[in-house]
Amino acid sequence: MHALPPVTEMYDALVKRDPDFEGVFFVGVRTTGIFCRPTCPARKPKAENVDFYPSVRDALAAGFRPCLRCRPLEPEGEPPAWLRPLLAEVERDPARRWRDQDLREQGLEPARVRRWFQRAHGMSFHAYSRARRLGVAFGAMRQGADVTGTAAGSGWESESGFRDAFAKLFGEAPTRAKDVRTRVVTTRLITALGPMLVGATDEGVCLLEFCERRMLETQVKRLRHLLGAAFVPGENEHTHRAEEELAEYFRGDRTTFDWPLVMPGTPFQVAVWEALLKIPYGETRSYDQQARQLEKPGAQRAVGKANGDNRLAIVVPCHRVVRSDGSLSGYGGGLWRKRALLDLETGARIADGALPGACAVR
Ligand SMILES: [Zn+2]
Repeated sequence: MHALPPVTEMYDALVKRDPDFEGVFFVGVRTTGIFCRPTCPARKPKAENVDFYPSVRDALAAGFRPCLRCRPLEPEGEPPAWLRPLLAEVERDPARRWRDQDLREQGLEPARVRRWFQRAHGMSFHAYSRARRLGVAFGAMRQGADVTGTAAGSGWESESGFRDAFAKLFGEAPTRAKDVRTRVVTTRLITALGPMLVGATDEGVCLLEFCERRMLETQVKRLRHLLGAAFVPGENEHTHRAEEELAEYFRGDRTTFDWPLVMPGTPFQVAVWEALLKIPYGETRSYDQQARQLEKPGAQRAVGKANGDNRLAIVVPCHRVVRSDGSLSGYGGGLWRKRALLDLETGARIADGALPGACAVR
């Protein structure tokens, strides 16, 4: 794990452009939406406007875009000439979705691109472009509900890029009001295990997921369809409560949640999720036990699939389901998070800076 130094020390290093802190932290500047290396030659922001991150990945997941002056994506000097047009293209249109085929059309071998990103940033190109795509959308959220009004002055290149990215992640708001059955307000929460996205209707919380999760875009799309919902940046009483109670949970001061949850699904999915809600804090169940409890012996695989479709991480505790031998298996938010959540619930605290950094868990 890659722990961050104390904030005052990092801010001091930032002001002095101290090269000893290169690679130790990256700094996100809230007023511009940009993240930098400690040694960036640009004018230094005020202390109250910065957030520190242990890795490029975390800064991207929190919604910042790379600085064009200090180029935080280039740990080994300039990126190779063959890659620069692609990086420029991602920045020109961060909302774009890239397939391997698109890379080939640009004359790039997908495996070669993947290897460079993996070595330089510990993530695939697709994970990088997804992080940029989500980042732009989260940038919209960080600016609050007034997306169009704030885009121009917020450092994002264009208002339309801003709206596009939000729309691509959360769907176009249906134009005819009668098509919208409900509204989901959506905001980001910062937790000890990285940024999460929380969404809530007037009735309750319907989405709680780690921002970098591969399934997130699919989950949003399904929810939009199932609820007939329009997603808008914002907060309500349910997101506020989620934020407070999750902070208590991560401090080890809370073991249960009783929020109103909105979890549309098939009868089988709902039965699986309700069974998950009954697994107490600090305990685990096997897929087999879960299947038998549902009176569907032999249905472990279907149960595992329904667990994976859970849209409410932590509060519907799919992390409490393990293999029969006690070992951990698939977790949408990453196995390291599953381990950290189970450790937390058995009395360990999550250390400051427990996020996997540039040189840690993948
Ligand atoms: Zn910079």
